[in-house]
Amino acid sequence: MANSPSKPKKPRRPKTAVVLLSGGLDSATALYWAKARGYALEAVSFHYGQRHDREIKSAIRLARRAGARHHESRLPLLGPAAASALTDSRQRLPNLPLKKIGQGGIPTTYVPARNTMFLAAALSLADAIGAEAIVIGANVLDYSGYPDCRPAFLKAFEKVARLGTKSGAEGRRIRILAPLLKLDKAGIVRLARRLGVPLELTWSCYNGTKTVCGRCDSCKLRAKGFSDVGVPDPAL
Ligand code: ZN
Repeated sequence: MANSPSKPKKPRRPKTAVVLLSGGLDSATALYWAKARGYALEAVSFHYGQRHDREIKSAIRLARRAGARHHESRLPLLGPAAASALTDSRQRLPNLPLKKIGQGGIPTTYVPARNTMFLAAALSLADAIGAEAIVIGANVLDYSGYPDCRPAFLKAFEKVARLGTKSGAEGRRIRILAPLLKLDKAGIVRLARRLGVPLELTWSCYNGTKTVCGRCDSCKLRAKGFSDVGVPDPAL
């Protein structure tokens, strides 16, 4: 009908994203990526039996800075700690030359089905609160050995989200978004700087020592990322 007064629009609630936040460079960048897209943020960090909880401290600070609600969850692995170098402090952490990182099959830092467990917990939260997306900082390039970072796995999990939730059954899609999937570390550092990630708050080291070790694979990959971009790492 012409000239009918338009109804006052109901303010739409912002879309919500559940973000897996470990406290490292990648997940922090994923958090700020979702923030830049206007999502209301629900960040989730897990105590899964990792060697140290230093990274959780970083996650809490990052969530606060980004204006995200932060959830801490205990999700201990049922298998023996020895199944991963990240859960067994008696094991030596890999300390490979840079060129060999990611070349030798599945690294010892692989944690059995970790992303499946994290995504399942995030999906439960997303379904409960009606979130539109789950954001994960998974990345295939620098650490190609983790099966649960593969694009096909994330695609398959999106199907799980559609088939196994109330949201999915009622036609509300929960997307699994992995904005860093195809970026190398330098690309992630560039994106993080563009998004204004407070990089000084992130923690990537596999060790929970007072300062980063600078020797583990994670430290090395991170250092290479910053040096490729030609900027100092503000966390050092
Ligand atoms: Zn380290």
